[in-house]
Amino acid sequence: MCQSGAHGTEQAWDADDMSSGTGHGFDIIIAGGGPAGLAFARALDGSGLRIALVERQPLETLADPAPDGREIALTHRSAGILTSMGVWSRFNDDDVAPLREARVLNGPSPFALSFASGQAADRLGNLVPNHRIRQTLFQSVQGQEGLTLLAGTGIAGVRTGTEAATVTLEDGRTLSARLLVAADSRFSKIRDQLGIATQIKRLGKSMLVCRVAHEGEHGGVATEWFGYGQTMAMLPLNGRLSSAVLTLPAAEIERLAALDPTALSDELTRRYDRRLGAMTVVGRAHVYPLAITYAHHFAARRAALIGDTAVGMHPVTAHGFNLGLQSAATLAGLVTSTAARRGDIAGSLLLRRYEAAHRLASAPLYAATRLIVELYTDDRPPARLARTLTLRAGAALPFVRGSVTRMLMQH
Ligand SMILES: Cc1cc2nc3c(=O)[nH]c(=O)nc-3n(C[C@H](O)[C@H](O)[C@H](O)COP(=O)(O)OP(=O)(O)OC[C@H]3O[C@@H](n4cnc5c(N)ncnc54)[C@H](O)[C@@H]3O)c2cc1C
Repeated sequence: MCQSGAHGTEQAWDADDMSSGTGHGFDIIIAGGGPAGLAFARALDGSGLRIALVERQPLETLADPAPDGREIALTHRSAGILTSMGVWSRFNDDDVAPLREARVLNGPSPFALSFASGQAADRLGNLVPNHRIRQTLFQSVQGQEGLTLLAGTGIAGVRTGTEAATVTLEDGRTLSARLLVAADSRFSKIRDQLGIATQIKRLGKSMLVCRVAHEGEHGGVATEWFGYGQTMAMLPLNGRLSSAVLTLPAAEIERLAALDPTALSDELTRRYDRRLGAMTVVGRAHVYPLAITYAHHFAARRAALIGDTAVGMHPVTAHGFNLGLQSAATLAGLVTSTAARRGDIAGSLLLRRYEAAHRLASAPLYAATRLIVELYTDDRPPARLARTLTLRAGAALPFVRGSVTRMLMQH
């Protein structure tokens, strides 16, 4: 694997080697080395394809990403995909926290709708810090045959034709490939350049996430509390440690994020009604403005979208990366089998099959998540009644609970 960093790390080619139309291009260019882009690269291991992965962040950041506060709830299906890629075994015991039960609370009511794995498994899923997912995925592609990693420069421009996709890097170099895969985040510029329209909804709210140590035991239970005027989730980590996820209007979150650690700890303890006793913030708080996105198409001529670039989920149902990983695995499977038959890895039939499969996987989840957010963040009296009724109905109807549990677990 060749690597190029912003600060002049190894440079194993010259610009002419990578220019388009000379036969020296790549089979695939991946735009973005976030978790989805890296997972896609990893899933192509053994395909024999020449891949360029372009990531704007410097190599040192990719190799050692800083904690970003996100604790990713991984489904069993995602754990299976990461295992088959040889990534799961790279996690330390400390990285993985079991999620045994999820409870949903509404307003001031003590009633909780509970989801547990039942006899199917000992846990609903696992929580793993996002920076460790990024780091282990990065480590897993080290030395991967056929993969060239270009870090420290982004993709500035994209052109697709009948035979190839050509990209211009921010440092002026050009690359060409048979297939361009965009994994450059939910606010993807490349998606725009491909002419793919996208539904983007900015919610005007932000999430504050941070680790908290607490007096009480969480018992491996995640709680999603749709209070009146705030939404607060507590995700169980190893020991008496949880990830606190607080959603409020953006300005209010900015105010809280500026508090000193003691004042923020007091605020979180109070806002969580001391359910876990006194809480103490560990490390720093991170803020994420909330926006959800859904691309109208997941493919264009010689190009495909994966990860958040295809579907930017609301974090409340914890499915963003799970879906992103699934999109990477689905596309990689189609590309690998087509390459083995010496077919066109960017053929319109392949791209249509990918789009159909990922739409089927993502559209119901996206719609259900939107509905949940819209209903459970609406504090007007009719909505409050509907919130109570739907939660009670969910508890009374085992098939509803069963299907939500399956959705959470995704075996
Ligand atoms: C608070 C929070 C909690 C979450 N919890 C969960 C959870 O429990 N479960 C779950 O499944 N998901 C969760 N998610 C969602 C998950 O974090 C995302 O779905 C995932 O990180 C998206 O990965 P990605 O690779 O698609 O995009 P990103 O992580 O956004 O990566 C995109 C990459 O592309 C690079 N890039 C951008 N533009 C260019 C360019 N022009 N050229 C080159 N590189 C470029 C960027 O530098 C970046 O590295 C959560 C999200 C948040 C905010």
